[in-house]
Amino acid sequence: MKKIAVLGSTGSIGTQTLEIVREQKDIEVVAIAAGSNINMLETQMREFSPKLVCVYDEERAKELRIRTADLQVKIVSGMEGLLAVATHPDSEILVTAIVGMLGIRPTIAAIREGKKIALANKETLVTAGHLIMPMAKECGVPILPVDSEHSAIFQSLQGNEENKVSKILLTASGGPFRGKKRAELEQIQVEDALKHPNWSMGRKITIDSSTLVNKGLEVMEAKWLFGVELEQIQVVVHPQSVIHSAVEYEDGAVIAQLGTPDMRLPIQYALYYPKRLPMSGKRLDLFSLGSMTFEQPDIETFRGLKLAYDAMKQGGNVPTIYNAANEKAVALFLNKKISYLKITEIIEECMQRITYKENPSLEEILETEALVYEHIERFVCK
Ligand code: NDP
Repeated sequence: MKKIAVLGSTGSIGTQTLEIVREQKDIEVVAIAAGSNINMLETQMREFSPKLVCVYDEERAKELRIRTADLQVKIVSGMEGLLAVATHPDSEILVTAIVGMLGIRPTIAAIREGKKIALANKETLVTAGHLIMPMAKECGVPILPVDSEHSAIFQSLQGNEENKVSKILLTASGGPFRGKKRAELEQIQVEDALKHPNWSMGRKITIDSSTLVNKGLEVMEAKWLFGVELEQIQVVVHPQSVIHSAVEYEDGAVIAQLGTPDMRLPIQYALYYPKRLPMSGKRLDLFSLGSMTFEQPDIETFRGLKLAYDAMKQGGNVPTIYNAANEKAVALFLNKKISYLKITEIIEECMQRITYKENPSLEEILETEALVYEHIERFVCK
């Protein structure tokens, strides 16, 4: 039996992870965590019988303890609870599928305990990649990508350990507003931005995909995961989302991973790596697909992507500023407090205003996050 813990078990990645558990039947879920969705947590507890459950919100945790008094399960809360789930002594793999920078501390704790990391929570590497990658290496812990693009790159690298990569081709669907110009985006509403053409995902990442900030975060994630230079990562808009990403080697050969858009594949590959197992679902049919197209990203309209390259070039705490400003701005947009275009304006403003810190420690990363939030509350939400 493979033993796993899942942070964010009630979300899009979390529930698809549990679908794989249901299908494969040789995985034991020892611990799960979510923010506040105790209805779904209760259902998951009754189906998967984890030993430990964390509900971040203590009030909701209390309620869940009452509801599940008939079960032999420990229910914890807060950051301490997330850390306990991440480091549960029985688990071998931690699936990090919570949203945002909240994932950093549990991921670090799990690495220190020697757990393999199936990483969906890209914000962790974006902000703390300089701490996490060396730590994982030192502890001999693999970071297995769950993001479909990074999984595709990882799959395209298999068997080529000795060969030199010249370029990574990171594909992007272009999101629901591909082809539009800035003026056309002024009136975009939450409902419009939540309609992704190819993928069904959580709300935050869906908005990030529409602004291309998600692609920006992925560029940063790829740099850390695969140890390449920023200039070696080329974003290619590919609206059909069939090529999930590719690697070009120094002899010019390009190796890619293709498939239908289904997040269960990268999740399953991370859980069973290096094995491939049967999987239900639609197969790629090249005849019905007919053709594939490719475009340059429009970084004038979708400034979030350009800002991500700027943030990574500046380094230090700037990727954290970029990420924290985006997290806050997206939350404000989802709550209908700011307009769509304001999201990238806020990121740019924070990148200019918040003090630069070279090589930030974990504390300084979290301090930067707090400073960004405070800045936005004082100057943007006033
Ligand atoms: P969702 O919004 O669907 O799910 C988020 C999960 O995090 C939920 O289980 C939620 O619990 C939990 N959560 C939120 N706040 C807390 C908290 N304070 N403490 C503990 N748990 C919390 O997100 P996604 O699954 O879409 O994304 C998860 C991560 O994976 C993100 O970093 C995203 O960028 C990345 N990713 C997602 C992909 C996708 O296809 N969805 C693809 C590639 C990467 P609750 O339900 O109780 O709020």
